[in-house]
Amino acid sequence: MYYNDQTVLFLDGKFVKAKDARIDLFSQTLHYGYGTFEGIRAYQTINGVKIFKAHEHFERLRKSCALINIPFHYTAEELTQISYQVLERNKLTNAYVRPLVYASPNMSLTAPKEVSVMIAAWEWGKYLGDQPLRVCVSSYQRPNPKSVHVEAKVCGHYVNSILATTEARERGFDEALMLDAKGYVAEGPGANFFFEKDGVLYTPPLGNILPGITRATVLEICHELEIPVEERLFRVEDLFDADSAFFCGTAAEVISIQSVEGQPFRKPWKSSLGAVVQEAYQCIVLDKSYSYVIV
Ligand code: PMP
Repeated sequence: MYYNDQTVLFLDGKFVKAKDARIDLFSQTLHYGYGTFEGIRAYQTINGVKIFKAHEHFERLRKSCALINIPFHYTAEELTQISYQVLERNKLTNAYVRPLVYASPNMSLTAPKEVSVMIAAWEWGKYLGDQPLRVCVSSYQRPNPKSVHVEAKVCGHYVNSILATTEARERGFDEALMLDAKGYVAEGPGANFFFEKDGVLYTPPLGNILPGITRATVLEICHELEIPVEERLFRVEDLFDADSAFFCGTAAEVISIQSVEGQPFRKPWKSSLGAVVQEAYQCIVLDKSYSYVIV
């Protein structure tokens, strides 16, 4: 479960028991999804508990709020310190940290003037497991960037994600791959997408996707390890003669994709560029050097 009787979370300047924390039923976030959140991971590294890229996550939270006109009064550094305290008070080391900015009671369709900030943490295994995924192409598109700010992590956007994953599971797949409003491959419901073809990794450019912090880390790894990587638009058909593919995200980390619509990728995962990236990612989050990966 996400919490028990002892769990403590941060709520508006105080640490309170999760079981005692209350939300107003007239919160605008509950009715209209008008709120923002983050998904962050902490790891027990060789140098103690470290929240991976905390600054980047809280900066994205600040930007998400700015994009949808939600007031935000904390700095990334303050929220990082608070998150460490949440972990410490709950004796958590390897954990998922969930900040949520939610609105006060407001039934009108205008941006809230007051919001609450909550930060909770719990132990959470790899979100999509560790087995290669059988992925389908979703009938649901990612939200049109002319309708919402796709680059913001807004609560309501996740209705789209839940629809896609639910449809995928109903069709007997593990996860969905979603296209953008123009029919190009965009991302998963909660993760970014990469595929490998002839020694090059490809991923969609920013514009129709959430700018994933894991995606940025993968790009850094590629740069570091001199793995050629291109950000460009492509279609589902381009995947059918590809070598390998993976999803990446904070909760899912780096997870291989076995097939798309039943069509398997050509390379065994172990010999794919994705596997190199996956191993490097594990090293980075655990504060270990990963130069040995390419030796
Ligand atoms: N796309 C979507 C739609 C997501 O929800 C997530 C998870 N936050 C990602 C991509 C990956 O982002 P990150 O690597 O920052 O977790």
